[in-house]
Amino acid sequence: MYHIGYTTRDASVVDKEELTVTLPNFAFFKGRIVPYSEAKVGVLTHTLNYGTGIFGGLRGYWNEKEKQLFVFRPKDHFHRFLESARLMLMELPYNEDQLVGFTAELLKAEKLCTDCYIRPLAYFADEIIGVRLHSLHADFSMVAIPFGQYVENEEGSHVTVSSWRRIDDNMIPARGKIAGSYVNSAFIKTDAQRAGFDEAIVLNADGHVAEGSAENLFMIRKGIACTPPVTENILEGISRRMVMMLLRDELGVEVVERPIDRTEIYLAEELFFCGTGVQIAAITKVDHRSIGTGQLGPITAKLRNVYFDIVRGNNPKYRELCYPVY
Ligand code: PMP
Repeated sequence: MYHIGYTTRDASVVDKEELTVTLPNFAFFKGRIVPYSEAKVGVLTHTLNYGTGIFGGLRGYWNEKEKQLFVFRPKDHFHRFLESARLMLMELPYNEDQLVGFTAELLKAEKLCTDCYIRPLAYFADEIIGVRLHSLHADFSMVAIPFGQYVENEEGSHVTVSSWRRIDDNMIPARGKIAGSYVNSAFIKTDAQRAGFDEAIVLNADGHVAEGSAENLFMIRKGIACTPPVTENILEGISRRMVMMLLRDELGVEVVERPIDRTEIYLAEELFFCGTGVQIAAITKVDHRSIGTGQLGPITAKLRNVYFDIVRGNNPKYRELCYPVY
């Protein structure tokens, strides 16, 4: 047992938790859609050995009333995807529009009529020994699977401040979604969950708040929404930008990008994670300290309502952000 007095989960339970996995039927692989079982790489593949790939994570939302699947902000996701590729000196033969087109093709092949998650991946396919970024050949794959909630308790998670530090821009750039850098996220997430917490907030090397293991972070303090700037070793989140816009335009809340101290989060009125996977998840406790009232706060609650309405294609003002598949 870790953390005496907090008994919801301990390491032995977490280690035995089995996640149900639904394998996709198809994959976009080497330029076409193939059965998933055919989308295979050799064990010597460069990215598998050295973590030199880049990836993305998009969500599709099923709108039951319209019988339509909407992919949320696919062009923005693929823009970041191609930027991550550039960071890794990776040349891909596709542009954003083509990648959006492949996404629609894949979702149609899967006949998905439910909320789902889309995972594009670009990797160095060379089967060689030799760690480097140059003189390698990139390949692209993509799969889509049905997907619900990423965190168990979106309305009140209990998180810890990780003892791990966020990778620095001069080590592996956190602004890119680089496969190898997710080892850092994996340490953060596993140690948090084995200690009984839902997630962790990670500090950068300066000791300032960076983000979660796979989420950006917002704090409401003295009525103002604060989030670390992109120079604090965070991923430049698509949801983060969306949330900044919604707080200002839909909720009338002032938003400031500034460094955040660890102890400021203890004093926050509200705290929440945002990201494609996590969506918008309230953090109501940090290291056994209640945040604000210790319950889902009014700004986070309102933001969640606005956000879920938009992503499912139900808000005409933001409809162009939702890409219809069918
Ligand atoms: N930070 C990290 C480290 C992430 O992996 C993610 C998930 N992509 C996010 C933040 C949130 O980014 P986005 O809103 O673009 O999904």
